[in-house]
Amino acid sequence: MIKLSTPLSEIKGIGPKFFERLKKFGLATAGDLLWHFPFRYEDFSRISKIADLKIGERATVQGVISDIKLKRTWKRRIFIVEALISDDTGSIKAVWFNQRFLLSIFKKGKSVNLAGKVVESEKDGLILSHPAHELINSDSGNDPKHTGRLVPIYPETKRLTSKALRFLIKPLLDDLEKLNDPIPPKILKKQNFPEINSALKQIHFPENLRQAQSAKKRFAFEDLFFLQLANIRLKFQLSREKAYAFPMDVEFIKMLLSKLPFELTQSQKKSLFEILKDLEKPHPMNRLLQGDVGSGKTIVAALAAMVVSKSLNAAQGKQTAFMAPTEVLARQHYLAFKKFFPGFDGGVALLTSSESRIFYGDDLETKIKKQDLIKKISSGGIKIIIGTHALIQKNVKFKDLALVVVDEQHRFGVKQRAELIDQSPDVLPHFLSMSATPIPRTLTLTIFGDLDLSIISELPEGRKEIITKIVAPVNRDKAYAFIRGQVKKGRQVFVICPRIEPQINADETQINADISVNQRGNLRRSALLWETKAVKEEYEKLSQKVFPDLKVGLLHGKLKAKEKAEVMNKFSASGGKDAKIDGSTSLTINPEQSRRIDILVSTSVVEVGVDVPNATIMMIEGSERFGLAQLYQFRGRVGRGEHQSFCFLFTDSSAKTTYKRLYSLLEAKNGFELAEKDLEIRGPGEFLGETQTGRPDLAMKAVQNPDLVKASREAAMDLLKTDPELKNNPLLLEKLKIFEKEVHLE
Ligand code: ADP
Ligand code: MG
Repeated sequence: MIKLSTPLSEIKGIGPKFFERLKKFGLATAGDLLWHFPFRYEDFSRISKIADLKIGERATVQGVISDIKLKRTWKRRIFIVEALISDDTGSIKAVWFNQRFLLSIFKKGKSVNLAGKVVESEKDGLILSHPAHELINSDSGNDPKHTGRLVPIYPETKRLTSKALRFLIKPLLDDLEKLNDPIPPKILKKQNFPEINSALKQIHFPENLRQAQSAKKRFAFEDLFFLQLANIRLKFQLSREKAYAFPMDVEFIKMLLSKLPFELTQSQKKSLFEILKDLEKPHPMNRLLQGDVGSGKTIVAALAAMVVSKSLNAAQGKQTAFMAPTEVLARQHYLAFKKFFPGFDGGVALLTSSESRIFYGDDLETKIKKQDLIKKISSGGIKIIIGTHALIQKNVKFKDLALVVVDEQHRFGVKQRAELIDQSPDVLPHFLSMSATPIPRTLTLTIFGDLDLSIISELPEGRKEIITKIVAPVNRDKAYAFIRGQVKKGRQVFVICPRIEPQINADETQINADISVNQRGNLRRSALLWETKAVKEEYEKLSQKVFPDLKVGLLHGKLKAKEKAEVMNKFSASGGKDAKIDGSTSLTINPEQSRRIDILVSTSVVEVGVDVPNATIMMIEGSERFGLAQLYQFRGRVGRGEHQSFCFLFTDSSAKTTYKRLYSLLEAKNGFELAEKDLEIRGPGEFLGETQTGRPDLAMKAVQNPDLVKASREAAMDLLKTDPELKNNPLLLEKLKIFEKEVHLE
């Protein structure tokens, strides 16, 4: 009897060479292999008569080999195996390239099933090209794996074919011990799913497509169900932890609001209220604040930080860590605090690898040695500490950290949270994540099911619509001329270079869904290299050929933090006469900069957060390579000041589908709408980055099915309500723990 945990190396019939190959794909146990699901099926279940075959169809024929020979082409040294097979209606030639070994399998007079595409050849009329094949003998005659049925097609590579996988999986299924189903029978019944043993058989070797789909759905549900259980349990756990409580002080908040140069939008107010309500509770908040680029998330989080620090009487307040993804953004947040709360004397610090300074209100700003700053933080002498995401991992000790704000990150990781618990074992800080990436609701419920959501759904008033154009290659010069005109008027321009995705050498027909993690890392690195090369070339072209008279800057991910900051400083420095925001120039990062950059050529590193109100043109090269939501975010970099802004989507692709997709950017009302579209077109990977390997893939695909997401969430909720510790479902608990380990929920 084979168990799920049985190593493949111990299974008869899997040789060491093959075992190594499987291992490379992360398949080490019988369970791994059995959970390597087909991604589609070919319907070879009907055996066709040879006389009925038509060009272009995929068919299975059954017949006797009446002739077989080996040929080779002279020019290219390719071996061709040709077989003639006949049934009672006629004969047809089948052709394989470079498969000499077939000669030893196919002998005249043997019965075979051949399944493949019928094509027309000049010489021979209809032939079967490269068909899958199976000898009909006493073993497989009634139960073929490869041909006369619905045939599973697996994610495969050159070295691991569907055929080989079918060959391995079939006997495993036959010898597998009976499994207990982790999904409670009541839920299976309610959803009308097959139990696990039949589902496994049906997903690999279904009798019909309906059966296959129902099995697939069951496994997708299982993964979603586990994700939901994990999320909801996390939420319950967190709600049992202690946190500092901050009773709502309406007068104080009114006072803060009255000092702002603008009124908050309705949804800013609503989000702020939700956050302040959470801060009142003695349990940690765990909230995601979502809002389009420019919707004003910073001020909402900053107000929460002010409440926590209780600025009027800072001695009583507690500390906030305010974390940004880049140093540039950290500095921008620091400047925002200075600008909006000039009288705050509780101490606002900026701590990054290149800078450390404190602001104590009324223009009391000092540069301070990093070590001294860290000391001041640990003694509680500074209430608001702004830095990069690394802030809490660097050995900065807080005295009484009560709020953690994380900008442009969807979630605050479980691991990071654990590090904070080490810092103060009794109380956990409240967590507020902010993200401008609009995520479709089903995905949010699945991936971020442990978080509460606040959404800023509108932009502050008075923002002008950004004029967006798709630019075909013939209009490139016109666009350049327009850009030059804008720069001459004092405006600035972003140029985003195409994203380069890791390329896998796909062998014609085969799909590489499962490349090893290691391989992925390498691909990613080489993609980064290409991307850097491409952006440098674009920079050369623009600075030397197209705009030699303008100042062009270059930004990419391989620059050092300091170099990046320097470039960004030059770009955001307000050299121009009208680079004002809100009637002031206080967001000017480095006013003494005289040489400013007109055109910034960049990879997608500028995607997040930078606020340069004088930039009015966003030009995106190879725009078809980006997701819609991402393009939307790029576009949000402009249109922040008083001038009319433009977004140019360059594309060399003339495909209708490309245009159609890009057009939805022109029509969309908000990022969420586009996110839903992206999910539909490009799948959830668009939002999650790297696709995760292994099981959750199925769940990730299932995210496109809102009903299944809803059902899994309800089922998980129901179960945890009656059995929060899963005491009555020990098998489920055990599996869930494994699942949580495999899929780090961050
Ligand atoms: P994001 O949500 O992208 O982080 P920011 O917080 O950077 O957006 O805000 C973008 C700009 O809008 C900032 O200059 C900010 O001061 C300004 N802002 C925020 N809220 C409002 C508002 N209610 N009215 C006018 N301007 C606002
Ligand atoms: Mg922001």
